[in-house]
Amino acid sequence: MRRRVVLLSGGVDSALCAFEIAQKEEAVCLFVDYGQPAAKQEYEACREFTQELRASGRSVLFYDAKTNLHYDDWSTETTNEIPARNLVLISMGINLALAVGADIVALGIIKDDAVDYVDCSPQFLKAAHELGAAFGVMVEFPLLKWKKRQVMQSAQRLGIDIDRLWSCYTPKSGKPCGECQSCKARGV
Ligand SMILES: [Zn+2]
Repeated sequence: MRRRVVLLSGGVDSALCAFEIAQKEEAVCLFVDYGQPAAKQEYEACREFTQELRASGRSVLFYDAKTNLHYDDWSTETTNEIPARNLVLISMGINLALAVGADIVALGIIKDDAVDYVDCSPQFLKAAHELGAAFGVMVEFPLLKWKKRQVMQSAQRLGIDIDRLWSCYTPKSGKPCGECQSCKARGV
């Protein structure tokens, strides 16, 4: 069975990506703790999500990795872009792909992201393709044309349990803050 690495964040975009991949291929899911405030909640959401996928008979592997990204203000309520985060995540995805014999790395970047983040811009995405190609790995963004609303509808239609996923960047007392960009996009 063909293997495809997919970066999981605990949120709905990457969960949908993983779900679609696991329909016909082996989804090698990678969660990265890079020091983000919600790492614990995100990790738990990813672990549960992959367990459920496996329980429903799909072929899913779950890996997690740890690194430290530098960012000057993790505590800010309106989280800004973490410098070059996707570049690091893609590099880690390529590393895992080569290690487990996968030839594709997928990221759940959606249309709305490209407006806000440098490392979702067309220039970056093109560079990411080339970076992967140098290692014989295809880096792909299957949700790039999707808006958040379409992602949510599709996830619900497929029966993905959205309430058990985690999107918030800056949890307060262990709960979604309701104020960060990610909470707003999801309509918490
Ligand atoms: Zn939030």
